[in-house]
Amino acid sequence: MVASLYGVQEEQKSVWVFLEQSGGNLENVSLELLSKGRQLADEADWPLVGLMLGYRVKGLAKQAFDFGADQVWLLNHPLLKRFTVDAYTHAAYQAIQQGKPSVFLCGATPNGRDLAGRLAVRLRTGLNADCTDLRLDSERGVLTSEVTGFGGGVLALLEAPDHRPQMSTVRPGVFTAQRVEKRRSREMLEVSFQLDETQIQTRIVERIVGKGVDLTQAPVLVCGGRGIDGDFELMQDLARLLGGEIGATRPPVDEGHIERERQIGQTGVVCRPNVAFACGISGAFHFVVGIQNAGVIVSINSDPEAPIFDYSDYCVVGNVAEVVPALIETMRAEVEVTHA
Ligand SMILES: Cc1cc2nc3c(=O)[nH]c(=O)nc-3n(C[C@H](O)[C@H](O)[C@H](O)COP(=O)(O)OP(=O)(O)OC[C@H]3O[C@@H](n4cnc5c(N)ncnc54)[C@H](O)[C@@H]3O)c2cc1C
Repeated sequence: MVASLYGVQEEQKSVWVFLEQSGGNLENVSLELLSKGRQLADEADWPLVGLMLGYRVKGLAKQAFDFGADQVWLLNHPLLKRFTVDAYTHAAYQAIQQGKPSVFLCGATPNGRDLAGRLAVRLRTGLNADCTDLRLDSERGVLTSEVTGFGGGVLALLEAPDHRPQMSTVRPGVFTAQRVEKRRSREMLEVSFQLDETQIQTRIVERIVGKGVDLTQAPVLVCGGRGIDGDFELMQDLARLLGGEIGATRPPVDEGHIERERQIGQTGVVCRPNVAFACGISGAFHFVVGIQNAGVIVSINSDPEAPIFDYSDYCVVGNVAEVVPALIETMRAEVEVTHA
């Protein structure tokens, strides 16, 4: 196996998190990774470093410190104002060569995935994609990344004991972002690096920001499966009453009843709402992985043997088309009584 550009002997024991930003804020997934990174770094007694690339984004470092970073390495350059994978790879690669971190974590977002893949190739190290958990063996300094395989039937634990940095990506919503209570050292380091236009093949012609919904932030998620027979208006009525959003399993998405961005699960969005409703959903692991960390799961299914009930806190055996309207009616009546 090819050796990584730097190895265990040269590593600087530390956990690094790529700080992705958009619209003047750090992405939630970066805050989630900082929180997980803080836990790993504390267990090993290592520093936690945020790697921030951009142009005039120094002010965002405060958010990184608030979520646990001890240091922020800042790469400031006009060519980093907008994400292009070639500019970000050139710059991040130089920072990593200078800092030689043990662990480097990226959000499994479109940009994070793009960057992580290129960096891993350039650094000649491995990359564990879409991890569902991370652990650090502080004695060996080895990161263990958990990924699901074969439709969730297998949990694989992956390690790269001889390669550095140990790289993993994690999707938004897998970990919880938590502000740190304790005030820690807050050190900002401006990194010197080389970057010029000849290194950038990508030209941004137009930037179109979708009006997409961020389901990872919804406190309540009302999910519909094949069993609701495409009636997402009913799901929307319930979601509206509860201040939530609607999600779906893959079949209604494939059948065109709802947009793909609302698909929950392994190939969709992973969420952590306070309450998740699963209506007319059988409970395939591909779906369950997207809501299994919800505070409370309520399932409605006409089949008393449906596997979804194994994951649910409240199980209603019945027809969605009868149970959900009755639930909505009862809740509306409650609201009216409260406001009377
Ligand atoms: C590689 C791969 C990735 C995948 N990724 C995803 C993913 O990210 N997300 C995802 O959701 N799926 C994913 N799938 C598909 C997944 O395996 C399941 O096929 C899918 O989740 C099933 O959706 P469902 O529960 O809506 O449908 P079904 O399995 O058909 O279940 C429908 C349920 O509705 C119940 N029902 C029927 N009528 C009623 C009624 N009137 N009232 C109450 N209950 C009723 C039935 O009893 C049944 O339990 C993936 C599959 C593969 C192979």
